[in-house]
Amino acid sequence: MIRKINHVGIAVSNLDAAVKLYSEVLGLKVSGIETIEEQKVKSAMIPIGESKIELMESTDPEGPIGKFIAKRGEGIHHISLEADDIEKMLAKLSNAGIELIDKKPRIGAGGSKIAFVHPKGMRGVLLELTSKK
Ligand code: ZN
Repeated sequence: MIRKINHVGIAVSNLDAAVKLYSEVLGLKVSGIETIEEQKVKSAMIPIGESKIELMESTDPEGPIGKFIAKRGEGIHHISLEADDIEKMLAKLSNAGIELIDKKPRIGAGGSKIAFVHPKGMRGVLLELTSKK
């Protein structure tokens, strides 16, 4: 079962400048900044109520966020939905003929399990599934 929107991921070209905008102008607080080597990204999580905004700067022009920005500029990159059981949800999507980027979950920000679903099957939206365990 999907529980909530965990976060909305936004690709930015300069993380410090983006963090400044969200904290100083919008008055939000960053809960943590971390570099996720595997995804070649430096990410800042900003909690807002039950959900978060994830600001992501690429650490490598050849990484997924680097390529995204080169092609489309800054903007919304993905929406992350929180599932109770990520494996079960992946199986459900796969059975429905939806193309998965990650057939098995991997470890994402904060040590959570994540898996990406291809935008082709999701009406043009890159979907990230996440679960705490
Ligand atoms: Zn994310």
